[in-house]
Amino acid sequence: MSTLSDGTAGRPRVVVIGGGFGGLQAALQLAKLPVDVTLIDRRNFHLFQPLAYQVATGALSPGEIAYPLRRIFRRRRNVRVLLAEVTDVDLENRLVHVEPVIDEARAETVPYDILIASGGSEYNYFGHDEWREAAAELKTLEGALAIRSEILAAFEAAELEEDPERRRSLLTFVVVGAGPTGVEMAGQIAEIARDLRGDFRTFDSGRARIMLVEAADRVLGAFPPSLSAKAARSLEDLGVTPQFDRMVIDLDATGVTTQAHDGTTEHTDAHTVVWAAGVMAARLAGVLARHAGAELDRSGRVAVNADLTLPGHPEVFALGDMVTLRRPDGSLAALPGLAPVAIQQGRHVARAVADRLAGHPPRPFRYHDKGNLATIGRAKAVADVRGLRLSGFVAWVTWLVVHLWYLIGFENRLLVVIRWAWSFLAHGRGVRLITGEPTGERTGVPRGERAGDATGSGRR
Ligand SMILES: Cc1cc2nc3c(=O)[nH]c(=O)nc-3n(C[C@H](O)[C@H](O)[C@H](O)COP(=O)(O)OP(=O)(O)OC[C@H]3O[C@@H](n4cnc5c(N)ncnc54)[C@H](O)[C@@H]3O)c2cc1C
Repeated sequence: MSTLSDGTAGRPRVVVIGGGFGGLQAALQLAKLPVDVTLIDRRNFHLFQPLAYQVATGALSPGEIAYPLRRIFRRRRNVRVLLAEVTDVDLENRLVHVEPVIDEARAETVPYDILIASGGSEYNYFGHDEWREAAAELKTLEGALAIRSEILAAFEAAELEEDPERRRSLLTFVVVGAGPTGVEMAGQIAEIARDLRGDFRTFDSGRARIMLVEAADRVLGAFPPSLSAKAARSLEDLGVTPQFDRMVIDLDATGVTTQAHDGTTEHTDAHTVVWAAGVMAARLAGVLARHAGAELDRSGRVAVNADLTLPGHPEVFALGDMVTLRRPDGSLAALPGLAPVAIQQGRHVARAVADRLAGHPPRPFRYHDKGNLATIGRAKAVADVRGLRLSGFVAWVTWLVVHLWYLIGFENRLLVVIRWAWSFLAHGRGVRLITGEPTGERTGVPRGERAGDATGSGRR
């Protein structure tokens, strides 16, 4: 194992873990300071997760929602990007241990003066990791591509299937979790089914069943009830059947079993199940908590001080989906797992580094809540912006503008605008490619290459 000797003599070495929303913002702001930044991510791209469901439903290509980190920092000479997985942090000696994610690279240690950790979160299958096999999730590009293949392969298999029961199962799609991601996903599957009408000869794709299973009593639990009700009605108009007050208790290749509050259970034969239920903090949160003796909450988030520093380690900041904040009264306050939280925190820690260089005292982080948005389908969305409750077309346009604003890369914005305009006007869905293998057992469709191989950056 070697030690990377970093940076320009005399300049503080800042290591940023994670090129997601929080880490990227921190690194972009730090690039303007007299510091040497090393940005470490196990992916060589920044992923715009809010649009992952559009890749999963063939509306966008992977390359339109992911942007290479190295390209973002091409002109920032004081920022170095490392493609590696952080496996451990030595808080005492101020070293980050990294393992290669490509065969040719070696394990390394990266020294730091200041560490910023923004490792994000991952989907939590409620302790049933085996469900992962049967229900893909949207947190990664691979997951989104696997879902895309699975949905499209289901329609293809239905064209070949003569048994009505099996065809019904192939044309049944279950989305678990009715938060924004689940709602968006269910709405988009319903729209695919409509868009594909006329493409098949042996069945009407518009008759596909799309179920949205939720343990609570409404969709979009973080929104005001009136907007939840509007969203549920829009989903139903699209052909989605919301199922409330139902917990998933089993999930396998045949479908999903749910349980109601009164204990009754129901099995739904479904070819495609998409997981959009609860998240757990990234493993990195546990690593930091263990070494610093910091608290972890039920979702595995590490408790940080009000200025986002790790308890007992003013040189370590943690932020985004993997943290919960310690209030002055000692209680813990989890902020919503949203991109604006991570973005604001990323900027805050960069400012904190600048303050420290200038000898100014630390400031607590304050979240400026800009509201909540969720889209349901073409020209349908709900928005709760500082008490202003919008729905329908106006909310949808707000959603489009906000997402384009935050999307990284001018080229991506332009391509996404063109695709959205085309899809809106022509009901086109340009990226209907089956590229992976996860469908073989259930559909009989031949296995191909692994998900993602064929599309890679996916731009056409
Ligand atoms: C499907 C989906 C849809 C969403 N939609 C919305 C939305 O519409 N609006 C909204 O505001 N929020 C949305 N979110 C939430 C939002 O994406 C997150 O809150 C945000 O990404 C959190 O930022 P972060 O920096 O904490 O983590 P992330 O953006 O997830 O970034 C974490 C980064 O750390 C890297 N990483 C993790 N561990 C390691 C390690 N050990 N070594 C190296 N690298 C590591 C990962 O590869 C990743 O690049 C959505 C999330 C998902 C999954």
